[in-house]
Amino acid sequence: MEIIKGIKKYANTDRIALKCDGEELSYKDLERFSESIGAYLKEVHSDNTPIIIYGNKDNLIVPCMIGALKSGRAYIPLDVTFPVERVLTVAEEVEPKIIFNFTDSSKEEFGLNVTVLDKDDINRILEEYKNEVINEASWVKNDENAYMLFTSGSTGKPKGVQISSNNLDNFTKWIIDYLKIDDSGMIIMNQVSYSFDVSVIALYGGLINGATLFSLSKKTMGNYKELFKQFSESNINLWVSTPSFVGICLNEDSFNSKMMPKLNSMIVLGEVLSKNLSKEVLERFPGLRLMNGYGPTEATVAVTAIDVTDDIINDDKSIPIGYAMDGIEIKIVDKNGKEVADGEKGEIIMIGKSVSKGYFKNQEKTNEVFYYEEINGLKERAYRAGDIGYRIDGKIYYCGRKDFQIKLNGFRIEIEDIENNLCKVPNVRNAVVLPVYKDEKIAYLQGVVELKEKNNLSNLKNGVMIKKELEKLIQSYMVPRSIKIVDEFPINTNGKIDRKKLMEEM
Ligand code: AMP
Repeated sequence: MEIIKGIKKYANTDRIALKCDGEELSYKDLERFSESIGAYLKEVHSDNTPIIIYGNKDNLIVPCMIGALKSGRAYIPLDVTFPVERVLTVAEEVEPKIIFNFTDSSKEEFGLNVTVLDKDDINRILEEYKNEVINEASWVKNDENAYMLFTSGSTGKPKGVQISSNNLDNFTKWIIDYLKIDDSGMIIMNQVSYSFDVSVIALYGGLINGATLFSLSKKTMGNYKELFKQFSESNINLWVSTPSFVGICLNEDSFNSKMMPKLNSMIVLGEVLSKNLSKEVLERFPGLRLMNGYGPTEATVAVTAIDVTDDIINDDKSIPIGYAMDGIEIKIVDKNGKEVADGEKGEIIMIGKSVSKGYFKNQEKTNEVFYYEEINGLKERAYRAGDIGYRIDGKIYYCGRKDFQIKLNGFRIEIEDIENNLCKVPNVRNAVVLPVYKDEKIAYLQGVVELKEKNNLSNLKNGVMIKKELEKLIQSYMVPRSIKIVDEFPINTNGKIDRKKLMEEM
């Protein structure tokens, strides 16, 4: 794995690998700690069950990830925004032997069938295994899983996307080249949570090249004064985030090239990039190289990208998602799987070496969207993204989804995931979640609920109580802003809940 080799390359220098909230972790320590953690994992568990890492941006998380890779195991990063109940849902499926816990949740909350290691335990392991060295033969390799990311699933249970060493090596080779990440000691923004694929750009692209990852913790992100103070002291060269996060930063007038004089490249991914946002960014940061990247977790991170130039912004069409990366073929097909002509809309399909082998222990869902295609005489994995798009002059344009998957502030959410979890809340008979749009963008979610039994509480109180219960089941960003209680749902001619009518009644 290139990331392990990269870290080794800088382990004898005084380079800093990670900075978070004033704390630093050197490449030397990253190498040493990951060897120790890997040796511990190899010793205590001879099988290769994946491990779970539950936390946010603590510097020590990265040695746990790399330690897992060195020991031949996949890691599953679950951000602190996952409530414990959701972590347990993942654990039920994965049956991990170990959870590295960087949150305030107590060990008891995870049940008895798993060893939960907190920071004190990890520090003990680092001391106890400080002289251990791991042989390259143990590392995760080829088609073995390196990590799994659990994304929102329409059944109410998250789906585990399996990403292999090969997937990663193919993706990182391209993105490092495209973003011009070199070994000059770059400083890369590490803002995106580790449970979201976009974080892989800084993590892998950066650590392979001896860069410093400037991590922004949830605590910092919740305090704008501190956030902008950190930006001004960061010397960040490369920015990686969703457009939504850039949008939030633009609300601060002093967010410009004076605040971040070293910033020369910005890639945004994960959701639609608007022209207004692009224009504003380029006004605030003259000469900045702005890029739009596109891709699903199922194809590692990104499969297309484009530089957002003045010509693109001044064009009549929306900002394209760009050209396919090296080693990936993009097809746009109709309902029968036949390629459409240039300019015609269809479903986006990606074929090539960065496409995942499928969802963990979920053959049915895997078979629905993954298949094999022959490209240049080779059998390659293909993924039907569910995204609608078209191609003109080689450039691909995105124009929405064919299902109920949405992006809210950059977070990928299946509307049915929230609805299914709402139905688990006591006294909820049925539930619908509606995205509410503002300026052609989803501004927030509105829940609508039918109660099992009427009680003497006001609708407002019922709504608040339901939200509280829902927060225990799903990530906070998935919880609708408010819950409206209805006596019964309107039904359309097909006998289904009439979402359109509900939307009109909002
Ligand atoms: P995720 O797996 O969280 O990266 O989400 C993948 C989905 O986000 C894609 O299937 C698209 O629907 C959407 N998406 C990702 N990048 C872009 C982009 N640049 N423009 C529009 N939508 C995007």
